[in-house]
Formats: sequence, structure tokens, C-alpha cells
Amino acid sequence: MIRRGLNKGLPKPHEAKYHVKKNDLVVVIAGKDKGKVGKILQVSPRKGTAIVEGVNLVKRHMKPTPYSSGGIVEKPAPIHVSNLMLYCPKCKKGVKVSKKYLEDGSKVRACKKCGEIIEPKE
Ligand SMILES: [Zn+2]
Repeated sequence: MIRRGLNKGLPKPHEAKYHVKKNDLVVVIAGKDKGKVGKILQVSPRKGTAIVEGVNLVKRHMKPTPYSSGGIVEKPAPIHVSNLMLYCPKCKKGVKVSKKYLEDGSKVRACKKCGEIIEPKE
């Protein structure tokens, strides 16, 4: 069997822009955590992955330290951004976004369905 597309994962020369970014509330649309909603803690532009709060949890065994008792802790592992959709609090689901410009000229993302502006508060 011939396998093609081995070079698919190479990073693009310039930093890719994604539909989601840090602090966004997103919903998982594929995988074992499908339907889960969480906040993006970190985006890795080179890999195209994001770490989402409470999503794709993996168990890590921690050694006891003077600061913690150790044991098993669950940590979120990176998930590909193509598996994420921006969450609209008004539609209560993952939505496509459109760009909007505010009166002061700043660009924001808005829900394509209801028009709600979706920008995380820092
Ligand atoms: Zn909406």
C-alpha cells in the first residue's frame, strides 16, 4: 500500500491565523470530547493545535513535591484547531464567525447566525 501526504504536517512559512485564539470559548466538534465547551488556554500556531480547558484530558502521574502531594492529575492535551468551533453564548452552540467593524475601527468577530459579537474579555 502506498501512503501519500506524508509532508502534510509541515509548518507554513508564515504564522497561520486561525478562527480561534487564546481566551476564546470554543466547542469541540470531533473526537472523544465532542460537544464539550471550554476556554482556550494556549494556541500553538506552528502545530495548529490548541489547549482547551477541560478538553482532551490526559492523566499524568506526578511525584510528590514540597508544594503538592503528587498523585494523578488530569491535564488538557493539545487538540487540533480544526476540531474546534467558536462558541456563541446566544445560540448556545458552535458557530461560524463573520468579521465586523466597530465605530472606533476595531475589528471584531461576530456570530454569523445571530450577529452577537464574540470577543473574549481579557
Ligand atoms: Zn449566535
